[in-house]
Amino acid sequence: MQPYDTIVIGAGVAGACSAYFLRQMGQRVLVLDKSGIAKGGSGAAGAFVSPKVGLGSNLQKITNEAFSFAYRFYEAHFPDLYHRTGVIRIPKDELDSKKFLEYEQYNTNKYDIYSSDKMQQLGITTPFAGFYFEEAGVCDAQALCAALLEGIDFVQTEVKNPIFDQGMWVIEGYRAQNLLLATGYENTLFDMRYMGVRGTWGTRGDFATKRRQEVSLHQSLSVSASMNGIIKLGATHEKSVKRARDCEDKEALGLQERAAGLVDVSDFELTASFCGMRAGSHDYFPLLGKVVDTEYMLERFPEVAKGAKPPLRYLENLFVCNGLGGRGFVFGPLMGKIAADLIVKGVAVDSRVDADRLFLKWCRKSLLQ
Ligand SMILES: Cc1cc2nc3c(=O)[nH]c(=O)nc-3n(C[C@H](O)[C@H](O)[C@H](O)COP(=O)(O)OP(=O)(O)OC[C@H]3O[C@@H](n4cnc5c(N)ncnc54)[C@H](O)[C@@H]3O)c2cc1C
Repeated sequence: MQPYDTIVIGAGVAGACSAYFLRQMGQRVLVLDKSGIAKGGSGAAGAFVSPKVGLGSNLQKITNEAFSFAYRFYEAHFPDLYHRTGVIRIPKDELDSKKFLEYEQYNTNKYDIYSSDKMQQLGITTPFAGFYFEEAGVCDAQALCAALLEGIDFVQTEVKNPIFDQGMWVIEGYRAQNLLLATGYENTLFDMRYMGVRGTWGTRGDFATKRRQEVSLHQSLSVSASMNGIIKLGATHEKSVKRARDCEDKEALGLQERAAGLVDVSDFELTASFCGMRAGSHDYFPLLGKVVDTEYMLERFPEVAKGAKPPLRYLENLFVCNGLGGRGFVFGPLMGKIAADLIVKGVAVDSRVDADRLFLKWCRKSLLQ
């Protein structure tokens, strides 16, 4: 069989965006996923795409760069799968509403202030003013991942033991020069402990309703605009769940109760529940780039535990795109492009998201304990 240029493991939004850009750059790509396309965290996502509010941190800056890239990308290439509903960010409480006053100067994306009265007219109950981001919106999560992968070879299989042999990655008879890991919270195929990927469990409920809601909103949960008679409610907060499990309607119904404080949910009927794990890093930035050869580094440079900074050695032709956290559909396109730029053109990864940032820190912290 003719070898591929790159095999991508994981067909969530991280893998699908990476594969899309790899193909755009002329590569022959194979995507493997044990569950199917967007059956992990990405399939569960409400897939809201909105900017981050805050005090202008580096994380906010890169999130908002990724946001601008993402909505333009979706509108240019997948206009039917991105709904520019606008998203209103509403403060959680009095204290949060005071913080919003300070946040305003750091809104780098187009915004407006919606007063409590304005929101009342839209059927949203809150005593606080919020930010309305008109470029923001909602994706059709599963359909978008499938569309990104259109024309790219896909095989449903669980990868257990990728082998690097004579300059090629070999997986179940498939061969490729490069291997890209986009496996979400199950980041265990290699020793990648330093990336500290961890899962956070979340739920989404799709509710049939006659209620017309023009705009999406986000407070401690996300509430979509009504699209084809459906409003999506979603939230990911549970850190105690360690492994993905079956979805339970009661979790989605819990979201309905929470949404009741914001919008009229009296005619909501649950039509489908989704649940899944989102994968985040310790510092909440995405994880992109090459994979450090941890075994070699620890054997060859044990002094890394005491703060030595030897040059990093990497596992050959092995790459990662992960840690997109609660914003996979915001980060996906830009991170997929960064991954493809690295693999195809050797472009250095933006240091803010380069997974290298964590290696020496991890050595110092965990090896001294
Ligand atoms: C309920 C919920 C709501 C969310 N809402 C939003 C939102 O509104 N906006 C937003 O931007 N983000 C949201 N997110 C976050 C978003 O879903 C994640 O950031 C995104 O799913 C990350 O995508 P991923 O491709 O990294 O991981 P995943 O989608 O989890 O994909 C990883 C894939 O790798 C596969 N895999 C793992 N190991 C192997 C193996 N050994 N062999 C083969 N396949 C393997 C898995 O089967 C899985 O399909 C939400 C998440 C959840 C759970």
